[in-house]
Amino acid sequence: MRKALSKFLAAQWLNVLESVDEALLVMGPTGAIEFMNEEAAALTEHSAALAIGRPAAEILSRNPWLIELIGTARAAPRRAVHRSGSLLHRTGTHTPVQASGTPLREDDGTPVGTLLTLRNLSHQQELEARTRQSDRLSELETLVAGLAHEIRNPLSGMRGAAQLLTTEPSPSQRATECTQIMVEEIDRLDGLMSQLLELSGRPRSTRSPINVHQLIDRVISIEEARAPATAFVRNYDPSLPPVLGDPDRLTQVLINLLRNAVEASPEGVPVIISTRMETTYRVEGENLAARFLSIEVEDQGAGFADEDTERIFAPFFTTKSQGTGLGLAISRRIANEHGGALRARQRPRGGASFLITLPVLVGVNHGA
Ligand code: ADP
Repeated sequence: MRKALSKFLAAQWLNVLESVDEALLVMGPTGAIEFMNEEAAALTEHSAALAIGRPAAEILSRNPWLIELIGTARAAPRRAVHRSGSLLHRTGTHTPVQASGTPLREDDGTPVGTLLTLRNLSHQQELEARTRQSDRLSELETLVAGLAHEIRNPLSGMRGAAQLLTTEPSPSQRATECTQIMVEEIDRLDGLMSQLLELSGRPRSTRSPINVHQLIDRVISIEEARAPATAFVRNYDPSLPPVLGDPDRLTQVLINLLRNAVEASPEGVPVIISTRMETTYRVEGENLAARFLSIEVEDQGAGFADEDTERIFAPFFTTKSQGTGLGLAISRRIANEHGGALRARQRPRGGASFLITLPVLVGVNHGA
């Protein structure tokens, strides 16, 4: 009987079994291990050389449920017996596995042994956990968007009512001041709500070819009007091709970055805006090359702490008394939606630098 099993295993399948992702263990009629592949050696923490010939009950002693499964499978008719459980290791850690025991029989029904397969489920469980997490995130986003929408609706009514109060005949100075504060606070709340909607909303897709220099020039004139004391230095590469994007959303990114730079800059110290072409990336297997251009906004302010390099992009992270901490989070989201990225770094000579990269997609055959 053992001979029959050896013959069975010695055939061409041995190599195939060795390379299978699942752990495979074959037991002879007495319950001794006759074959185990590399994955089985890894999962059971026994080398095949030492395990072969020894009883499965000894090799799997930490996991009596598997020994029991082998027993059940051996007595079963042709069909496999399945169980999921966790495999206990020498160190006390566990691996979730799907175990199957199958009786091996000759064509005439003579039993020759048992096959035990173990499928490692840790990757699958990790993937499922990640999917659950992203489902929860999108639920949260929907909730935030709904809430922001609901809060925004009554705000316009409240603003109108507050303004009406100021039209009352001869209001006291105190009443005028209070209604002014109400209007300002309502406006602040409204601004916060529209930023929240921006952060949690679905990406919009109105794309058109954009000359980034025209866009930057427009944002610079808006900021010059707001902060006349700040100078803006343009460091443009005039040969840049247009990008395909949403001009309103990209304007919003530039306003956020320039405004932050102005706020961080000591008075009279200029903010520098540079543009250039980045490396070309070929898209594997496709007739496409992704080319990126970049826009860098640099200031010579105090910069940020090293450990905050990523944290500043988190929603609600702010070090300003009147800040919302949403500007950079929204800007990064918009850059990502355009297939680009937004990164921050400290300038070697002090100050902060924010780099937006945006793709210009062209067919390789068409060059350009
Ligand atoms: P807010 O401006 O409302 O605080 P942002 O998301 O735009 O929100 O910025 C988050 C934080 O990132 C800021 O509060 C600040 O701490 C930091 N930050 C942003 N831009 C700069 C900059 N140019 N220099 C230094 N720190 C910056």
